[in-house]
Amino acid sequence: MRMERVISGIRPTGNLHLGNYFGAVKNFVRMQDEYDCMFFIADWHSLTTHPTPENIRQSVRTILAEYLACGIDPAKAPIYIQSDVKDVLELYLYLNMNAYLGELERVTSFKEKARKQPDNVNAGLLTYPCLMAADILMHKADKVPVGKDQEQNMEMARLFARRFNRIYNIEYFKEPESFHYTKDAVKVPGLNGTGKMGKSEGNCIYLCDDEATIKKKVMRAVTDSGPERLNQEKPEPIANLFTIMELVSTPDTYAYFDDQYNNMTIRYGDLKKQLAADINAFCAPIREKIIAFSADEAYLSRVAAEGAERAHERARQTIEEVRHIIGFR
Ligand code: AMP
Repeated sequence: MRMERVISGIRPTGNLHLGNYFGAVKNFVRMQDEYDCMFFIADWHSLTTHPTPENIRQSVRTILAEYLACGIDPAKAPIYIQSDVKDVLELYLYLNMNAYLGELERVTSFKEKARKQPDNVNAGLLTYPCLMAADILMHKADKVPVGKDQEQNMEMARLFARRFNRIYNIEYFKEPESFHYTKDAVKVPGLNGTGKMGKSEGNCIYLCDDEATIKKKVMRAVTDSGPERLNQEKPEPIANLFTIMELVSTPDTYAYFDDQYNNMTIRYGDLKKQLAADINAFCAPIREKIIAFSADEAYLSRVAAEGAERAHERARQTIEEVRHIIGFR
């Protein structure tokens, strides 16, 4: 029996941060041993929100180096750059023909982005679900690891697969499943007291941050005036620091500060110093690899070229079959 196929894309709109790592990339590293995985860097997708990217080639290289540094092994899971595999455009076109304006306008992420960028409500933004569906269906993926924000786009991908089958009266596309690697999704909080770590929130620790930057960011993290009762529940800013500690520190370290909080002897300065040191210890080996991969232009080009070739092989077969089904010979 063939291994289940997994495909996942990431937009090259910034460096990877701890949220990306623990919420997504760490799982990809485990998945590459268990599934037939492929990853891609969605540079075309990023044009919907960043139509005039400053240096898209560099952003793509950076993300590629960061993926590799996190442990994605291209021998197990090819990585390609979306714009290197042009086959997806043809499937995108066919899916666009069978997608209706009303349903695309109702997609929450479209409405949100249209609200955020009222001067640039472009057609690419509207047909984002068609391109995403094309990325997935092109590979006949069984599973797609997605965050909650992508759930509706996954429903659209399934809808487009079903609709294609119905229109052409054939059981061709299989409906791809959304995939959550762990039962409870990890949510990495930011350092500004509330909410999750995110690029647009300005509250991130990036995997490429150096030791001094990490320390500065952690020492500035929002706290409060300290616990007021024994064993009290931690308010959000404090719980957030502990959540990050749980991810990067040893269980003993976590228990040590947790006890101190519970018996009201905690000094947040000590907690932060330890947390900064542990985040740095966690990031340092990844950071070193990011620097090494980033400097190896020839290797990055080879990884991207091999990834593109593998993706193209699969995609070409799908496109040929789809042409045949529609009636192009
Ligand atoms: P983004 O950088 O926002 O495009 O996020 C890419 C993926 O990283 C998301 O789909 C999530 O799976 C994951 N992610 C981003 N931020 C966080 C976070 N703070 N906690 C957990 N996962 C996250």
